[in-house]
Amino acid sequence: MNRNEVDREKLSPMMKQYMEIKDKHEDELLFYRLGDFYELFFEDGKIAARELELTLTGKNAGLSERVPMCGVPHHSVKPYIKTLVEKGYKVAIAEQLEDPKDVKGTVKRGVVDVVSKSTFVDEEYLDNATNCYIGGVISFEDCYLLSFADISTGVLNALYIEKDDSKLLNEILKLGIREIITIDNFPLKLISTLENNYGILVTESNEMLQNEYRDLINSVTDERIKMGIRHLFYYLVKKELKDVSHIDHVNILNNEETLYMDIHTIRNLELFETIRLKERNFSLIWLLDKCKTAMGRRKLKDMLLHPLLDINKINKRLDYVEKLINEFITREKLRDALEGVYDIERLCGKVICGSLNAKDLLQLKNSLKNIPEIKKLIDELSFDINIDENKEIYNLLEKSIYENPPVSIKEGYLIKEGYNKELDELKNIRSGGKDFIATLEESERNKTGIKTLKVGFNKVFGYYIEISKGQVKEVKDEWGWERRQTLSTSERYITPVLKEKEALVLNSEEKIIKLEYELFLEIKEKVKKEIFKLKTLADNLSQIDAYLSLATVAIENSFVRPKFNNDNTINIIGGKHPVVDNVTHLSYVANDCIMDKDTSTLLITGPNMAGKSTYMRQLAIIIIMAQIGSFVPCEDCNLKIIDKIYTRIGASDDLVSGESTFMVEMLEAKNAIEGATENSLILFDELGRGTSTYDGMSLAESILEYVNTKINCKTLFSTHYHELTSLSKKYPTIKNVHVCANFENDNLTFLHKVKDGPTDKSYGIQVASLAGLTDSIIKNASEHLKKYEQNKPRKMNEQISFTFPKKENELKKEIDAINILNITPMEAMNILYKLKEKSKDYEE
Ligand code: ADP
Repeated sequence: MNRNEVDREKLSPMMKQYMEIKDKHEDELLFYRLGDFYELFFEDGKIAARELELTLTGKNAGLSERVPMCGVPHHSVKPYIKTLVEKGYKVAIAEQLEDPKDVKGTVKRGVVDVVSKSTFVDEEYLDNATNCYIGGVISFEDCYLLSFADISTGVLNALYIEKDDSKLLNEILKLGIREIITIDNFPLKLISTLENNYGILVTESNEMLQNEYRDLINSVTDERIKMGIRHLFYYLVKKELKDVSHIDHVNILNNEETLYMDIHTIRNLELFETIRLKERNFSLIWLLDKCKTAMGRRKLKDMLLHPLLDINKINKRLDYVEKLINEFITREKLRDALEGVYDIERLCGKVICGSLNAKDLLQLKNSLKNIPEIKKLIDELSFDINIDENKEIYNLLEKSIYENPPVSIKEGYLIKEGYNKELDELKNIRSGGKDFIATLEESERNKTGIKTLKVGFNKVFGYYIEISKGQVKEVKDEWGWERRQTLSTSERYITPVLKEKEALVLNSEEKIIKLEYELFLEIKEKVKKEIFKLKTLADNLSQIDAYLSLATVAIENSFVRPKFNNDNTINIIGGKHPVVDNVTHLSYVANDCIMDKDTSTLLITGPNMAGKSTYMRQLAIIIIMAQIGSFVPCEDCNLKIIDKIYTRIGASDDLVSGESTFMVEMLEAKNAIEGATENSLILFDELGRGTSTYDGMSLAESILEYVNTKINCKTLFSTHYHELTSLSKKYPTIKNVHVCANFENDNLTFLHKVKDGPTDKSYGIQVASLAGLTDSIIKNASEHLKKYEQNKPRKMNEQISFTFPKKENELKKEIDAINILNITPMEAMNILYKLKEKSKDYEE
């Protein structure tokens, strides 16, 4: 049965109410609170049953047929909501707005929250090292405006992007935005790419917020950005019913001030996850993140996404890191103090738009407890970072919030004694009553002589005196006992005194819970007033934590402080790839990278597996680390500031769907060529390999020439087209280097050392053999190679033909090892037999 088919007149009052609410929430799955359950009806019920693997049942709603229904218990609703929003659904939650006890007839209900992929910000499910962004895009004639917010932290950013769909897509992916709100002129192809290729939820919403949040909106002057905020906020505030009053300012981002990297570069350099397993482990952030707080982790991630261009700003960060490195004791104390700091930023978020409980306020208090110590240490370090202790909030929480509160804020036990007089009085009454009841058992036993008499309590009947069935006859009228409940073996009674005390206890209990809840909300309001101060504190702490992390990593890995120049020079002595070095430990071979002002390209040759890509990535990573203000993995370095990094390394990605690998390779080359300036860095790894040899080589040569003559930026270009190495004669800006390998006695050893000059050795077949490719294939490949070399369609003398595959080599070794003079004829027969068996492995 579908919702729009029913005769509404016939529906029960509750179902009529459901229909009215659901009419306003057509796009969402409506979780409708009925007592201890959230129920979903009609199509919503069917969807939820399917997606959550729950049983679809039915409910009588006044119709001839039962209405399809599916429900989840209210106390465990979160994981279900999480599953649905992850699958791209939106969920509206309708609560009972009145206490059913106080109401006759249908309880008033209303939607209190709407959540979707990026706005379901429950701490249990949030990745604390990553922001959870929702973005709004407005398409203007000449550009896109992307406004994006994280409601869990109260961050709002605005960014102009060139009117280029791939650039917009690039930013959305880079920032990890999970949900996009568009207006109706948004390109359909891009919507489809966002949704189908990247699982990003796209919603069209054309309205703008009119009256609310004026202060924030008027704090920017740019009319377009105002419009962007109005557009995004309409969705958050009106559609999703969010309170965003913790957003106190708009960060207007400027890509011109930070090092530009596209999503390919970020992935290729494995800044946040590895290419193969898509895991954080063994990525650069994995190495750099030694933060003590979740806020610090997010800050560091943001720093890594946006390395700086301004030498002064970079040096300021480096000064902080250096100071922390040098001040051992202060550093360790600071680390200890930060250890006790919770995620203040997200706690602030919860104060405004989450389900804040007393434990959260306790976390805030315990965090604030560490601030005086942190402030003292920051002063000792003479850092230019202002730390506000937020003493009033600390004092308020210290005197009000009970040390071990329950998760629920509606059960009492939240507020300390001494905070509120009325509450203390009520608690006295309650404990007086309870004491009386506790002693009643003893006094009644004495009075009645029934030694097994018990005083108990249950929720339905309240306090009672219980005696066994056998003792009922001993009960005397003058005691005034009234029978309350009959059980199979016992009888329960109530007495006037017990009733009176019970009323006192229950009455005071109820009042206490109500008052505690009110006081809690009052405290919450007081914290709310200070939210911006707390957010500033959180931001400052996150910076300190990030610098501390960089200092710790620098010490652990013996990194050095980078220097910068304006001479168009890159000079790295003994550079390492920090992650590969960390994994390979002592065996990593350090390499220099020297590109003076007249060198723009290093043309890198050498066998596969020698370390060409690692060498290229290493340079980019050192530059990125340096420009975020980190120490770097080398003995010494002096770098020019790089404005953009483009990479074409490794397997192609699927940014532009439906394109072949080679097409993607060429598109990326085009992006690099069009985007790079003379201050950029380009890494081209074996460009052109996706097509036939001549095509590929010609393209590679021509692109290399173009980059060298027209852009003249620093470029690392690895290739197996050895013919290209002669370009250095034509262009003095191109320098040949090669990664060494040793080939001796049929053994190929990678030395991973980068040296000047070209090499003409590729050792492709040997590497294939090392990879364990079947001997017959290796043997045949060697034969083919000989053939090609004789025909010499292109100069391939660099490829040494392979004479003795690995396994045959072993056979040879075995034969050589036989000492004929030292074996018996029988042993000789056995050996001969074995050798014959082994030789069967080898085809002709
Ligand atoms: P190529 O690009 O030349 O095929 P890679 O850069 O992919 O080679 O390196 C192959 C492997 O060699 C890497 O996985 C790494 O473990 C190792 N390697 C690379 N460079 C070094 C080095 N400088 N020192 C030690 N090992 C290295």
